[in-house]
Amino acid sequence: MRLSLFDDYRLGLTEGDLIWDISSVIEERWRSTPQAMNHLIENWDRAQPTIAEIQASSEPRPVAEVRLLPPLPRPRQLFAAPLNYRPHVAEMIGSEHAPTGLRASHSARNLGFFLKAAGSISGPEDAVELPALPDRSFHHEVELGVVIGKQARGLSPEQVRDHVFGYVCLLDITLRTDGERQEERTMRKSYETFTPLGASIVTADEIADPHSLDLGLWVNGELRQEANTADLICNVDELVATASHVVTLYPGDLYATGTPEGVGPIVPGDRIKAVVQQVGELDVAVTRRTW
Ligand code: MN
Repeated sequence: MRLSLFDDYRLGLTEGDLIWDISSVIEERWRSTPQAMNHLIENWDRAQPTIAEIQASSEPRPVAEVRLLPPLPRPRQLFAAPLNYRPHVAEMIGSEHAPTGLRASHSARNLGFFLKAAGSISGPEDAVELPALPDRSFHHEVELGVVIGKQARGLSPEQVRDHVFGYVCLLDITLRTDGERQEERTMRKSYETFTPLGASIVTADEIADPHSLDLGLWVNGELRQEANTADLICNVDELVATASHVVTLYPGDLYATGTPEGVGPIVPGDRIKAVVQQVGELDVAVTRRTW
């Protein structure tokens, strides 16, 4: 299933160009709130049969008639992997934007995760808004996002897949370091609108293997990133297991699994298209922040 949030945080089931309002599957007090998707995920086993009933007995609307919101605007935790594709490590090593101390041996395996502010999340119909920071460079990163389904800690890699709810196409927009300016990753990647998500979450049962998905990213129609999740250094199972040994994971937590090679600058006026095969597609504008 493909699950969305739309208009005033209504829960949507999306099929092709159609969307069904399935908000009534969750408790009334959580409907039309930013936490609606978290509650659907938490109560999924009970909700799933009801979704089929709603779909059979109600009329869908064209997706074009609604405003799509980020499908998961309030993860309790937003984890992200640094340096998780080998060619991306290599391109950063040779770059003017390499963080101080970066080595070729660095990867998510020895660096672990960083956190992005959940407030950086934006939706498929929102623009990426670049703050006015003269002489600084902002880069695009396309990534597979993993949505946690069940509360858990201390997971082995073998246990992880039973705790994954689904997947989402994600952009990890990044302010690059630059000589003396070496802000923490967490800050550089947490500007508002720096984590576009969507357009929907696809449930895990529809993805036979999360480690064989093509990813692609285009800026103004020009191909910039092209890779496959088979080339992840730390795969989904390792990433989530490691995080679960640090802190308890909760339904609706989100993990950005890292970007492949081909990262590059974006500027106001650009348009970014990102695709994760079978998972989803984003097509967002880049603008200058006005505040
Ligand atoms: Mn990233």
